Amino acid sequence: MQYVLATANPDKATEIARILADADLDVDLVPRPASVPDVDETGATLEDNARLKAQALVAATGLPAIADDTGLEIDALGGAPGVFSARFAGPDATYADNCALALERLTGVDPERRTARFTTVAIACWPDGREVVARGAVEGVITEAPRGAAGFGYDPVFAPTEGDGRTFAEMTAAEKHAISHRGRAFRTLAAGLGGSAGAGHGGA
Ligand code: IMP
Repeated sequence: MQYVLATANPDKATEIARILADADLDVDLVPRPASVPDVDETGATLEDNARLKAQALVAATGLPAIADDTGLEIDALGGAPGVFSARFAGPDATYADNCALALERLTGVDPERRTARFTTVAIACWPDGREVVARGAVEGVITEAPRGAAGFGYDPVFAPTEGDGRTFAEMTAAEKHAISHRGRAFRTLAAGLGGSAGAGHGGA
């Protein structure tokens, strides 16, 4: 079964391809055509934004599409950056800018109050309007300083609670995917796609 992958972010695309392959889902992931413009992420929720991205690719290609949207919620910041995670430090923010702003906003906040979670909503949409939706989350803390060079985004400042104190950026890809928001969401999505034999069904 062919699906076009809605993300233009190579870090996310690499992770998604690896997680789906490890879940033994036999799918052919077609990269997003360069001619398809970026979708404005105007939704109020991760699910709205994931659906907007997938539906835009379905409309542009006529193929079923897989998309995801991820947010980091930092409790001491009232849940920010949430749906604004990509542009926390501004429209052209780099990963390093976003990490630096998160650390700056948490200056002086005690370790036990630096709790946070990543949530991913993964979605598959078909041209006839059917969809499968899956969600994954991981709890953790925002570290005092960036650590590690692997991964991407906020990985250097996020240490998952169920890990051994290392940040995601200090883990191998396999270690991260075993417990990550994206690993969980896409393994659930894979089960939903396999279970429906690609026919699709609502919810999950
Ligand atoms: P997106 O909207 O799904 O592209 O994700 C929004 C932002 O969240 C990205 O630009 C990254 O900065 C961050 N992000 C998404 N997934 C991860 C991850 O697995 N680790 C660290 N940061 C992530």
